Amino acid sequence: MITFKTAVKIISENTFILKNPEAIKVTDSLGYITSEDISSGTDLPPFDQSNVDGYAVTDSDSGEWRITGEIRAGDHPEFRLKKGEAARVFTGAELPAGTYSVLMQENVSTEGDKLFYSAEKIVKGKFIRKKGVQIKKGTPAVRRGTLINPAVIGFLLSMGIKFVKVHRKPVLSLIVTGDELQEAGSDLKKGKVYESNLGLLRGLAMYNGFEIRYTTAARDRKSDLKSKVKTLLKKSDMLLISGGVSVGKYDYVNEVLNELNVSKLFYKVSQKPGKPLYFGKKSNTAVFGLPGNPASAFTCFYLYVLPVLKKMSGHKKFLPVWKKLPVTNEIRKDFNLSWFLRAKHSEVNVTPLDAQASFMLRTLTEANCFIHMPLDKNKISKGELADVCLF
Ligand code: AMP
Ligand code: MG
Repeated sequence: MITFKTAVKIISENTFILKNPEAIKVTDSLGYITSEDISSGTDLPPFDQSNVDGYAVTDSDSGEWRITGEIRAGDHPEFRLKKGEAARVFTGAELPAGTYSVLMQENVSTEGDKLFYSAEKIVKGKFIRKKGVQIKKGTPAVRRGTLINPAVIGFLLSMGIKFVKVHRKPVLSLIVTGDELQEAGSDLKKGKVYESNLGLLRGLAMYNGFEIRYTTAARDRKSDLKSKVKTLLKKSDMLLISGGVSVGKYDYVNEVLNELNVSKLFYKVSQKPGKPLYFGKKSNTAVFGLPGNPASAFTCFYLYVLPVLKKMSGHKKFLPVWKKLPVTNEIRKDFNLSWFLRAKHSEVNVTPLDAQASFMLRTLTEANCFIHMPLDKNKISKGELADVCLF
């Protein structure tokens, strides 16, 4: 059995960014990581623009102009302002050649085609968004390795970029195992329990920007599990198997993976929940055998699965975010395992929730973090700082 830290190390050392970046639509690229530097193909703004609704004016000693034209956003002025001339302009409109300054409409007075403003208050270049002031054509706009957030999408589109080259997200598959499992929606048969890990794990994936492409359920029969694992190993960058990874007579995951030549990198981590965790690889496909208990599956997803999904997708920061917070209640344990307690943190402290057993989901619904109580520690006193892993 290995420790939590060793497990994280083994996983980090054995997983890599997926090969073959792909070009996808910028509008579909939220949450992806750019795989190359992107330069602007245009000056932004593309031309000298008015920053306000008002008047483009030439320099003046008299503070009086004749309004000779109107330029709306989207128009291209063909004329040049001559001495003593002004043009009505609107926010975002291209300014005519010869513009010295722009006056806000709120600050001027007009009479017919005459415009008045005090000459000594004119400031050269005022309310003009100069061509290229935001970014110049051909200069770096977005660096390789950038997480595409909504602002990046907006910025790329503003430069006229429609496709972006990104690291692929892994093709992720899930097999849930267990003869006792019954789908929600019909009366529970005797001896059965409702299946919940498929939706739970799919939700965890989606919540973090990933999707589970293929899902299937396998019986607790070796042949059934084996054929399903075999098929999905070929199609996937990562395969998750829920349940059947323990030591029971009908737990076939270890055996099946071994027979299919998946190399086992570890099995069992000295932690609670989630002790019977399996991690292995076949060529470039990562395989996790997750314990079937729902809270165990959840815990292993955050601590191990999500980091690999992120790393494969090109994230530089792929490990969970940790924080130190004082606990509101004393916590004791009487076993020699790392304990990941479902907990709820505020800005200033963290509270362990009740119902910590690995088969229970009830309080996990309110949790927003784990408190980690290390292997060799048996007590965290009230007010003591604890390591908190944020979801
Ligand atoms: P296993 O890891 O297969 O030994 O399962 C451990 C416990 O988790 C058992 O009580 C199972 O009934 C339960 N379990 C396994 N898979 C699921 C699932 N997909 N949904 C709900 N409970 C499950
Ligand atoms: Mg089972």
